[in-house]
Amino acid sequence: MFSKRTKIKILLQSDKTDFEATVMGWVKTFRNNQFIALNDGSTNQNMQVVAELGLLDEPTLKRITTGACIKATGKIIPSLGKGQKIELKATAIEILGDSDPEKFPLQPKKHSLEFLREIAHLRFRTNTFGAVFRVRHALAFAIHKFFHDRGFVYLHTPIITASDAEGAGEMFRVTTLPLDGTAKDKNGEINFKDDFFGRSTNLTVSGQLEAELGAMAFSEVYTFGPTFRAENSNTARHLAEFWMIEPEVAFADLDDNMNLAEDFIKYIIRFAMENNREDLDFLAQRLAEEEKSKPQNERSEMGLIEKLEFVLNNHFERLTYTEAIDILRESNHNKKKKFQYPVDAWGIDLQSEHERYLVEKHFKKPVILTNYPKEIKAFYMRQNDDGKTVAAMDILAPGIGEIVGGSQREERYDLLMKRMEEMNIPSEELNWYLDTRRFGACQHAGFGLGFERMVLFVTGMTNIRDVIPFPRYPKSANF
Ligand code: ATP
Ligand code: MN
Repeated sequence: MFSKRTKIKILLQSDKTDFEATVMGWVKTFRNNQFIALNDGSTNQNMQVVAELGLLDEPTLKRITTGACIKATGKIIPSLGKGQKIELKATAIEILGDSDPEKFPLQPKKHSLEFLREIAHLRFRTNTFGAVFRVRHALAFAIHKFFHDRGFVYLHTPIITASDAEGAGEMFRVTTLPLDGTAKDKNGEINFKDDFFGRSTNLTVSGQLEAELGAMAFSEVYTFGPTFRAENSNTARHLAEFWMIEPEVAFADLDDNMNLAEDFIKYIIRFAMENNREDLDFLAQRLAEEEKSKPQNERSEMGLIEKLEFVLNNHFERLTYTEAIDILRESNHNKKKKFQYPVDAWGIDLQSEHERYLVEKHFKKPVILTNYPKEIKAFYMRQNDDGKTVAAMDILAPGIGEIVGGSQREERYDLLMKRMEEMNIPSEELNWYLDTRRFGACQHAGFGLGFERMVLFVTGMTNIRDVIPFPRYPKSANF
C-alpha cells in the first residue's frame, strides 16, 4: 500500500498552512539537533522539519544523519527562519532507514562530478543530479507528447538485430556460443548455426531501417530506445549505450525534415523551460559557477537560460555542406592553421572542431548543414541530381556539435541498389528493407536525435556520462 504522505513539492507549492501532514524522505542536513533539511526527490527544495527540543530521545537524535531515511508527521506552519516559507513542526519522527555517517560517501558539501561518477548509484541524491534527471524525465515525456499530439505511432524496433549493414558504428556481438574456442567448425570458422538465433546477431546501432518500414504503413512513426556502439570513443559526447529518437515520415522531403527537427527541438526545450524552471535555474547557477573557474576567453557568452531562450527565439541557420566548407576554408582560424585538421578540400568529413567553429564562432546559433558529399554518408540517403551529394542534414548545437543526423531517403529502387553495390552492402541481407522500395515506395525522410546530447544541451552539463544514470563507455560498465 502507498504510505500516506504528501510530496514535499506539493507542500512547498501551496501557501496553505496550519494543517497536519506527513513527509518522507532522506536527510540532507541536521542542524542544532532541531532542524532537518529533508528531501524526497520531488524537487530540489528541502522541507525544513523542526524537531523541538525534547521531542526525541538522545539515541533517536543520533540516528538523524545525512542520508538517513525518515518519516515525519506534524503541522505545516509559516516558517520563522529565513530560507523557506513553511516548515513542518514535527509531532512524531520515525527513522525508516539508518545511514552510518562514517560510511555514507555523500557529505553536505560540494563533490566533484568525477567523484560522483564513481558513486553513480548514490549521486541521484545530490542537487545537481536530482535536477539533471528530473529534466531528463521531462524531456523524455515531452518527446512522446510532441509525437503523440501530431499523430505519430511509437514503434518499438528490435534491440537485437541480424543486420549489420547500416555502418552507423561498430557493433556489439550478441551470442550464446562458448568463448572457449569450441564453437568453431573444421575450417576454424565460427559456426553460427549453433548460436541462439542460428545466425550472427548484434545489438542495434539504430532503429531507422525498421522505422522506414513502419512509415510505409502508418505514414508517421518514431522510435525512442537504446542503441549501442562499440566505437572506442573516449569523449565527453560519446557513450557505448545511448538513447535515440528516430522519427520517419512518409511523403516528406528534406525541407519538411528540417522543419520537423527544428520544431521538435524547440518544443522539448520549451516544455522543460515551462515545467522544470526551478531545476534549470539551479543548473544555470551551477554552470555559472563552473564557468568562473575557467579563463575569461573560454567562458561562454550566455548563461544557460539565456542560451535556451536564444535557441527558442531564433531560426536555425541552414546552409549546405559546400557553403560550410567555403566558410571554414576562408576563415582566419584555418589560415592561421589553428584547426588540428586543416580544411583544404571539398569532400572532407567535418571534425567536431569544424562543427563547433561554425556554430560557436561563426553563426553563434544552431546550424543545419545539408547536402553532404555522398562518400561520407550512408547508402540510404537520397542522391541529388549533381551526382556528388546526398540529401542529408546534420544539426549542430553550440557546445555539443552534432546533435541530429538525418536525411531524405533514397526511395528509387534502381538508384538505391546501385549505391549499395558501390558501397559493397550485400542486398540479400536487406531484402526486407528493399521491399519498401518494391511495394508502394514513396518520398520519405527522417532523422536521429541523440537523447543524451539533447539532455546535455538543456542541462548545461559538459560530460555525457553525467546525463545518463549509469553510463557505459570503454572499460566501464559499473552498476
Ligand atoms: P558522431 O559523428 O558525433 O559520432 P554519428 O555521425 O556517429 O555522430 P549518427 O549515426 O548520425 O551519429 O547518430 C545520430 C545521432 O545519435 C547523432 O547526431 C548523435 O546525437 C547521437 N549519437 C551518435 N553516436 C553517439 C554516441 N556514441 N553516444 C551518444 N550519442 C550518439
Ligand atoms: Mn559516431
